[in-house]
Amino acid sequence: STEAANGGNAAPSAEDLKLFELSQKYTAEAAKRFRPEGLGQFVRLKEAGSERLRTLAQDPWADHAALNAKEPVTDGSKHKFVILGAGFGGLLFAVRLIEAGLASGPDDIRIVDAAGGFGGTWWWNRYPGLHCDIESYSYMPLLEETGYVPTSKYAPGPELLEYADRIATQWKLHDKALFRSTVKATRWDDATQLWNVEVTEGRGPGEQSRELTLQAQYVLLASGILTNPQVPKIAGLETFTGPLFHTARWDYKVTGGTPKDATLTGLEGKRVGVIGTGATAIQVVPKLAKYAKELYVFQRTPSSVSWRGQRPTDPEEWKTKIARKKGWQRERMLNLDSYLTDGAQEGQENMVADAWTEMPAFSAVIGSPKYPIVEPTPEKIMEHVGRLYKLDLPRTEAVRARTESIVKDPETAAKLKAWYPTWCKRPCFSDEYLQAFNLPNVYLVDTDGKGVDSATSSGLVFDGKEYPLDVLILSTGYVTPSIGAGSPAVRTGIEIYGRGGKSLDEKWKNQGASTLHGVCSNGFPNLFFAPLFQSAQASNNVFTVDVGTEHIVHIIEKAEAMASGNALVEVTSEAEEAWALEIMRRAGWFATVMGCTPGYVTAEGESLRQSDDQMEMMKKARGSQWDEGMASFLKLLQEYRADGSIRGFEVVSRA
Ligand code: FAD
Ligand code: NDP
Repeated sequence: STEAANGGNAAPSAEDLKLFELSQKYTAEAAKRFRPEGLGQFVRLKEAGSERLRTLAQDPWADHAALNAKEPVTDGSKHKFVILGAGFGGLLFAVRLIEAGLASGPDDIRIVDAAGGFGGTWWWNRYPGLHCDIESYSYMPLLEETGYVPTSKYAPGPELLEYADRIATQWKLHDKALFRSTVKATRWDDATQLWNVEVTEGRGPGEQSRELTLQAQYVLLASGILTNPQVPKIAGLETFTGPLFHTARWDYKVTGGTPKDATLTGLEGKRVGVIGTGATAIQVVPKLAKYAKELYVFQRTPSSVSWRGQRPTDPEEWKTKIARKKGWQRERMLNLDSYLTDGAQEGQENMVADAWTEMPAFSAVIGSPKYPIVEPTPEKIMEHVGRLYKLDLPRTEAVRARTESIVKDPETAAKLKAWYPTWCKRPCFSDEYLQAFNLPNVYLVDTDGKGVDSATSSGLVFDGKEYPLDVLILSTGYVTPSIGAGSPAVRTGIEIYGRGGKSLDEKWKNQGASTLHGVCSNGFPNLFFAPLFQSAQASNNVFTVDVGTEHIVHIIEKAEAMASGNALVEVTSEAEEAWALEIMRRAGWFATVMGCTPGYVTAEGESLRQSDDQMEMMKKARGSQWDEGMASFLKLLQEYRADGSIRGFEVVSRA
């Protein structure tokens, strides 16, 4: 063999050489993009220095007159459960509590959201072209319980919004919601053994907002992961005189059309600029391209765009193949997840069969049941990362080849090719985006990783050239969910003070993530959060909140049963330390992000910074994930729940 002929050293194969070159290319491309200011290059829209930018964060959709006509919520009112967030996560919490018989009284549940209605992501985002990127049959929660049939494989935004409202109607949640209400803090009161949830309720333009406090036995956080729109600190941005808005707050007065009708006649004859080329821009750009006189797409890093295959739901297929038996939706979520965790069994049916199911290397960031724990030695890590690069190669090559075959101008095609592993950014899917660059009115302004230089009153500047614009759209994403080392408080934009006034953020800062199964922390009784770290993640975010809320409601149910319906339940520090050790033992798997181009997956590169401080590195490892993927994590939770004893919690009856 070659190996024998080389005296034991195998000659590198053509594939090895290709992978080596590729990883060098990836490293060079990533290096162009690291910025010393990391997350500091952005500001939350609602906290921007200029009044003009701050107002862009306001809710354009709230019906203030109708909401003001509702009976105001009493300051100091007491509830068994206060749920923060009225998206699919908050809805799942409420539905599960009701179904478990834990919240039958009219005041048992209050759902608080800064938005003007239910829907979360789908309330705020109404841009043209919006649809879920995960197949709706897996993404839309509770389809078996509502009996709803999604109109298409990837439901459009307005349908997802209406569906959230449909869930609220079915479980009679409208009277239990407090909208336009931002939670600022929640404080545990040792004397009353209740949480005081501090809320600012907006009343609409020109109206005085109200400050109120809700008392709660339990606080449940379902605040989402991508809720705070951000804007890059581009000099002069606020001086742009034309219309300017963020995609998460679309301005149909400017563009014409409605969320249900992308006839954007307001853009006819206009020069339109879009900053950003992430998953949002991929959906928006083709719609803008149809109406703008000239469309300039300002790109810092290209997205990797595979095929979509959107189609209407076939009623026959729905009946006979999709909704075919009880429990089909969880099975379908798991089936999709198995492809992404490289855990699909030989010969199994591929139910979803879309481009997501062609990327087993996505397991790099969500784990896989197929491999043993990755030992944290340099050799083992290299071997692991190398294996994933190899697994990813066919897909990244195919995506680049697809770009080349669709985009007619070779120079533009080259600029649209993504040079990073699939898992570093949300993979994108579209049968229209790349095609848009073949239109004569669409211009790609590639900044080669640098970003836009500055803005003027009349346009954007890059590389000494001004691009005059009439309308400017910020498709610049959201504050990373891993901000504040992933503390559920920072991520939610609130402060949480537990027993003895201890801050949750401080706890995360001092000792790193500290939870049992990612959903609760010692010192913070009766407080649970939708899992993000120290748990498993699925590419289908609703699957993640589905699993998380199911688990949390089980714990509450058991605790309430143990304490005559008036429980105080708190994870012990021993249980959370043991779980943190288990997560740390498994952290080697996620070394896969080391070669990533910056983005929200790596907190704009901040999470990749190495430190000589052992303590800091240990804290980082604590903020890792279960390395075997969601199916394995779910099994672990099911086994944990089987005897109903909720090991690791202390339960007492409230005084
Ligand atoms: P959200 O829907 O984000 O809801 C959280 C709610 O909490 C928000 O309404 C917010 O206003 C509220 N909130 C947060 N903090 C506070 C506070 N301090 N006070 C008051 N209210 C607060 N994921 C997928 O899996 N598939 C997709 O196709 C997909 N598409 C997406 C498209 C867009 C444009 C974006 C931005 C994200 C998308 N995601 C997708 C991720 C998406 O966030 C989740 O799928 C999903 O919405 C999670 O539901 P949630 O209820 O956990 O969070
Ligand atoms: P992203 O964070 O993915 O994209 C922001 C874009 O802005 C990036 O292309 C970024 O470039 C660019 N950018 C930032 N600063 C500058 C600058 N100074 N100059 C030029 N460009 C700049 O946000 P999105 O809203 O697109 O998506 C966020 C997430 O929401 C997705 O990852 C996905 O999880 C979810 N989503 C899902 C959708 C779905 O399909 N259903 C649709 C939309 C969003 P760079 O990459 O270099 O940082």
